[in-house]
Amino acid sequence: MGVLQQILNDSGVFQYGLVDVSDIKFSQEVRGMCEVNTCQKYNKTWACPPAIGTVDECRERVQQYDTMVVFSVKSDLEDSFDYEGMVAGGEKFKQVCLDVDRAIRRHADDFLLLANEGCDKCKECTYPDAPCRFPEQTHGSLEGYGIFVSELAKQAGINYINGANTVTYFAGIACSSDMLSKLWD
Ligand code: SF4
Repeated sequence: MGVLQQILNDSGVFQYGLVDVSDIKFSQEVRGMCEVNTCQKYNKTWACPPAIGTVDECRERVQQYDTMVVFSVKSDLEDSFDYEGMVAGGEKFKQVCLDVDRAIRRHADDFLLLANEGCDKCKECTYPDAPCRFPEQTHGSLEGYGIFVSELAKQAGINYINGANTVTYFAGIACSSDMLSKLWD
């Protein structure tokens, strides 16, 4: 098993798979879902639109890399109304993303980790008045980048939905084929 798979397994990742960056679609339609601000994160932090730039700028940033390692983190809920469980699942997911990011940085530094959800690391975000306090720990939003997460999961060969009373979050590590050949078995 390669170093990267070991990191994902050790960090509590549920499933993972590889997607060619050239196959990823970047959609203004998905960005439009951010703009209606259902999640209340639009225009609030450095991890979400409009701070991350246009969909075209996001696409160019990702397309500097060849491959995306897509991974999921699943949590069980007591029932479909278990709001606290959903929040706890989101917190667990963010911690897994941080752990994965830190562990990869021991082996490589040129990659881009994008994640479901915006950033709520600081009590008050510096956006838009001052630079991000923790740029290396801030993961841009997959949806904000215009990526259809259900399609991305399908391309990676992993489940988008994992059954009743579960919540699943997704992230993607865009990296070069050179980095992948060193860290992936
Ligand atoms: S790390 Fe802090 S300053 Fe940076 S985007 Fe997140 S909340 Fe804002």
